[in-house]
Amino acid sequence: MSDIHILSVAVRVAKVPLPEPHRTASAVISESPLVLIDVTASDGTVGHGLLFTYTPAALGPTAQLVENIAPLLENQSLAPKQLSLELAAKFRLLGTQGIVGMALAGIDMALWDCLARCHHLSLVTLLGGNSKAVKPYGAVGFDGIKGSARAAENLAKQGFLGVKAKIGYPTLSEDLETIRAMRSAVGDDFAIMVDYNQSLDPAEALRRLCHLDDEGLTWIEEPIKAIDYSSYKKLAAAFNTPIQCGENWWGIADMQHSLCAEASNLVMPDVMKIGGVTGWLEAAALAAAHNIPMSNHLWPELSARLMSVTPTAHWLEYSDWWNPILQEPLQIERGYTVMDHRLGSGIEWDEEVICKYVC
Ligand SMILES: [Mg+2]
Repeated sequence: MSDIHILSVAVRVAKVPLPEPHRTASAVISESPLVLIDVTASDGTVGHGLLFTYTPAALGPTAQLVENIAPLLENQSLAPKQLSLELAAKFRLLGTQGIVGMALAGIDMALWDCLARCHHLSLVTLLGGNSKAVKPYGAVGFDGIKGSARAAENLAKQGFLGVKAKIGYPTLSEDLETIRAMRSAVGDDFAIMVDYNQSLDPAEALRRLCHLDDEGLTWIEEPIKAIDYSSYKKLAAAFNTPIQCGENWWGIADMQHSLCAEASNLVMPDVMKIGGVTGWLEAAALAAAHNIPMSNHLWPELSARLMSVTPTAHWLEYSDWWNPILQEPLQIERGYTVMDHRLGSGIEWDEEVICKYVC
C-alpha cells in the first residue's frame, strides 16, 4: 500500500469555448462546461481530473458534490482502487449514476494521475503497459450533406484515417446522401462511422438500417435509446454492419447488462460515465472476456493512454474540445496518436488560459 496520503482536493468550474461550434440534432454546442479537479498528495504532487457536465446547469451541482466528498478523502492513503470501492459503498443507497457517478469518476481520474506522478511514472507504465499508438477518428456534427462531406475531406487532409458523422435527418434519403457524399469525398479506404445519438425508435431503426447495411460503414452508433438492450440485440443480429454502443452506460453494471443481452458488436465506454480509470479498467477486462473491440467516447488524452492497457483496443474518438485549457493536447501523426512518456495521464492545465474561463 502507498504510504503517500491525500492532503486536499480542489475544484474549479470553467466554461471553455469550443475551437469550432458543434451541431447536434437539437442544438449547437459552442462551449464546454467543465469541472477541473486537483488532488494534492502529502509529498506535494498534484494530480488532475476533468469532468464534462454537458450542460452548464449541472456545473455547480457537480463541483459542489466533489467538494462535499473531499473530506472523505483527506488523510486517506493514495490508493485509487481501494478508495473507489469505499466511495461506491458510501453511495450505495443513493446510487452512483448521474452526477454522483461523475463526481466519483473525476476524483478517481485525479487520484490515478496523482499516484503515477508520485512515482514519476506515466499512467500507462503505472498500470503495467507499454505506450501504444492508436488510430483516431475525427467527429463531425449534424452538418448536412455538403457540410459533412467537407468536414470529412478536411479530416482526411489532416491525416486521419476515419470520420464519424451525426445522422438521423428527417428522411432516410438525407442519411444516405450524407454517407455517400462523405464516401465520395474521402474514398473507399477511409473508415466512415455514423451516430444516430439514440434518435430512432426500434421500428424506424430496422427500416433505416436495412438501407445503410451496404454502405461499407465501420459502425452504426446508438440508433435507438441506449438501454433498450432487447431491441439492440435484434438490430445487431439483423445486419452485417457492426452496432456500436457504450457512451451512455453509467458504470460497469450497464455494460454488463448490455453484453449479457448481446446488444452490440462493439463497445465504446465514456471514461467519466463508466467510473473513471478504475471503471475503464473493469470495462476493458469485460470487453476482453467477451472478445469485443473497445473504443472510447471523448477524453482523448486520457483514453489514448488507457487504450494501451485495453486488450481489445479499437478506434480512438478524437476531440479537440478541451484543447484550449491543455498545455500539450494529444498529437496525431500519419493517422495515429503520438504517444509520449509524460507523467501521469498526460494532462497539464494551461493556467493562463484557464484563468480566463473559470467562473
Ligand atoms: Mg455517440
